Amino acid sequence: MMRVPEDLRTYFGIRGVRWTRRREEIFAALCACAEHPTAEELFQKVGVRDEGMSLATVYSTLELFTRRGLCRRISPAHGPDRRSGGARYDADTTEHAHVVTADGRVIDLPDDLGREVLAHLPAGVLEAVRARTGVRVGRISIEFIEEV
Ligand SMILES: [Zn+2]
Repeated sequence: MMRVPEDLRTYFGIRGVRWTRRREEIFAALCACAEHPTAEELFQKVGVRDEGMSLATVYSTLELFTRRGLCRRISPAHGPDRRSGGARYDADTTEHAHVVTADGRVIDLPDDLGREVLAHLPAGVLEAVRARTGVRVGRISIEFIEEV
């Protein structure tokens, strides 16, 4: 869950996203969700208030937000979402780790625990990843998956 920035036009504008009422609605609804919703789940929240809103609009808006750094897409590697391929979205783009429950929910790991895990990465591991895979790591995502 994230507080909606006060001046959303500016918050969008500095990331190259033109403000529209629908985009504000979708972003505010995403910020209000603690559960990292799928596009479908978010559509169920905003669609009831705005009859002109479609699932396609919610989906394409979330993809635009993701490309411009306004939110993050979480690939459903585990849980029931894997079957539907339904990505989840997070308005909090700061570094934080997730806990994935057996029923597919995604919740935030308390910050101090996430920092503690990242602080214990072996020195030089990012360079080793680059050397062995050719991939330069931009960020690290950690998921704790509930035992089934
Ligand atoms: Zn999160």
